[in-house]
Formats: sequence, structure tokens, C-alpha cells
Amino acid sequence: MISIDEAISIVKNNSKTLQELKTIKVEKAFGYLLAEDIVSPIDMPPFRQSAMDGYAICSGTFSSYTIIGEVKAGDSINPELKPGEAVRIFTGAAVPDTADVILIQEKVTVKDNELYTEEEFKIAQNIRPKGEQVQKGEVALQKGAKIVPATVGYLYSLGIDKVSVIKKPSVAIVSTGNELIEAGEELKHGQIYESNSAMLTSALYSLKFYDTEVYKIEDNYEATLSTLRTVLKNHDLVLITGGISVGEYDFVGRALKELEVNELFYKVKQKPGKPLFYGKKDETQIFALPGNPAASLSCFYIYVYIVLQKMMGKSTLELPRVESTTLNSFIKKGDRPQFLKAIYNNGKVELLEGQNSSMLQTFAVSNALVFVPGEVSEISINDKVETILLPV
Ligand code: AMP
Ligand code: MG
Repeated sequence: MISIDEAISIVKNNSKTLQELKTIKVEKAFGYLLAEDIVSPIDMPPFRQSAMDGYAICSGTFSSYTIIGEVKAGDSINPELKPGEAVRIFTGAAVPDTADVILIQEKVTVKDNELYTEEEFKIAQNIRPKGEQVQKGEVALQKGAKIVPATVGYLYSLGIDKVSVIKKPSVAIVSTGNELIEAGEELKHGQIYESNSAMLTSALYSLKFYDTEVYKIEDNYEATLSTLRTVLKNHDLVLITGGISVGEYDFVGRALKELEVNELFYKVKQKPGKPLFYGKKDETQIFALPGNPAASLSCFYIYVYIVLQKMMGKSTLELPRVESTTLNSFIKKGDRPQFLKAIYNNGKVELLEGQNSSMLQTFAVSNALVFVPGEVSEISINDKVETILLPV
């Protein structure tokens, strides 16, 4: 059995960024990272642009300027101004090449086509130079940049509507167990509703991983073997739940061996989630998560999360951890480090009742996991604890 730290570093060292790229519409690329540098195809702005409504002048030491015309946003004209002349101009309009100052309309008076101002002005004021933001041929955004709404606007402003991104992983979720039935069916004695696959699907959706497929199998060696053979071929990441313990009906471990999955670790000294398996086969990453729902989800956030971030090319691989102050006490049994479901708010954290690995009721209202090191057996009110913030 290895430690949590060892397990985390094995996961980090054995997962990698997916190599497959895809080209998608920019507005659908929110949350992806750019797979390549974006070179600007144009100067932005593409012309000297007025930043204000007012008058463009060809400046000099004049007491007034003669207005000779008008340029609106979108006009493709370039009136020629002689020193002492002006044109009416509006925000976003192309500034005539012969104009060197924009006077804002609030600061001038116009009488009989003559423009008067008493303001001091500076050459080039209120004119956005051509290529001020980015010039044609320059790198507009670097490979690896996260695509946020502003990125989408920026790329569109350069006329770019498609980008190349790192493909998100295709994830298989395999639930195992004879006792599991579908919601809507009537429970017979000994049966429970299958909940892990929907829970993990939604955990993936909440992180914007939508390429998921669920497989459900009974505790049967042949079925386990054939389903796992298929998913290993067709997916980048396989999340199996249940069947990884040492019971006589736990076939996952045997099937993974038979399929020559390279075991990177099995069993982590932690609570919940001791019977956690991590391995890989060719480029596919495999987790066999514990069947107990709360253990399964904890392992998702602590370990699977890392693989997902790494596959996307992100540099921050783990969920954020903060120090917080406890609002209540907790007695930990045993020497395994524990992740406690908790509610974090503004530097304070409430440790919840009902930490059993089979219980989701507590998890459903928590927004954090408090990490309790193995050697700590008691947490008191006002203790400082390491708190993992969940992406909720
Ligand atoms: P296992 O790891 O297969 O021994 O399962 C441990 C516990 O988790 C058992 O009580 C199972 O019934 C339960 N369990 C396993 N898989 C699921 C699932 N997909 N949905 C809900 N509970 C499950
Ligand atoms: Mg089982």
C-alpha cells in the first residue's frame, strides 16, 4: 500500500497531454487550451481609428479649423486635409491620413463651418494607431493559452472563427455489480439503484468533459473481460467502479491482468478509497475506483482530476488547497489519512457528520474535502486544516 503523495506523483508522472488536435469554432472552444500559437492575419486595429466622437484636424497654430467633410464608422474614405482643416468624425471611424489630432466634441464650438477650441491638445490624441493591439504576423495568443470569453472576442476581432485545440479525452465509465438496477425499476430485496455512473458522468460534465460513455456489467468474469477489452481500445480514460476488492465476485483486477494493463499502483493508504487501482495500457489511462459511492467520488477529485488536467495540457493539475479554520471537532479512527466531506465558507470549514464511504448524503451538501494527515487523531474547534476546494 502506497501513500497519497506517492500515488499522486505516480499519476502525475504517468499521465500526459493528449496529442490529438481538433479544429473547432472559437465560441465552442471555451475552456480548452490553444494547441498552437495564433498568428494575427491582420493589424488590429486595421487602420488609424478614432477613439472618440469629435473632429479630426490637421493641426498647426490656427485659431480655428475649417470643416471640410465627415467620416462615419465604416466609411471607406480618406479625405485630404490641409493644415487648418478638419472633418467631423465618429468613434470607430478611419482617421484621414492627413489628420493628426482628434478633438472631442464636448471641447469645441462650431460656428459657420469653423471649429474653435481653447483646449491644449497633443499630437495623436484620441487616435488608436494601426496595429496598436497586435500587428499582422505577430503572435496574437500563445499556444497553451486558456480560452475564455475575452479570447473568443479577441480572436473574432482578428477575423478568426476557428481554432486548433487539444482534443478532450473520451472517457468510459464502467459500473460493475449484480446488485445494481436502474432508477425506475422496482427494488428487489438485496438490490440497490446504480448511481456511480451518473455521478461520475456529471462530475466530468461539471469539468466540461462531455465525451463520455457508460457501460454496465454484472459480476461475471467473461462480461468484465470483454467490456474492458472494448473500452481499453476505444477510450483515452477508463473509470471502472466496484469489483476491484478481493471478494470472490470482484473480477476487475483479474480482467485487467489478463488484458495486460500495466499496474502502476493498487491500494492507497487513505480513507475513503483504499482499494484504488491505477494503470495504463498503451495510451489509455485506467482507474478502478472503489464501488462505494463517496469513495469513488473522492478518488475522482484527488486522482482522476489530475489526469484530466494533464490530458488537456494544463499546468495546474490539482484542485486548489487552502488553509481554513474548523468550526467543529472530529475524532479520526485509525492511522490512515482521511478526506472529510466539509462545507467551506470564507476561511472557515464545517466538518460534516456521516463520513462513511457509502454515504452520498453528506457529499451532496459539501463543497470541500478536509485533509486529515495519518498521524492526527483529533481535530478541535479553531484548528487550522488543509482544505481542498471542490469544483462546485
Ligand atoms: P464493490 O467495490 O464492488 O465491492 O462495491 C462496494 C459497495 O459499493 C457495495 O455496497 C456496492 O453495492 C456499492 N456499489 C458498487 N458499485 C456501485 C454503483 N455503480 N452504484 C452504487 N453503488 C455501487
Ligand atoms: Mg461489486
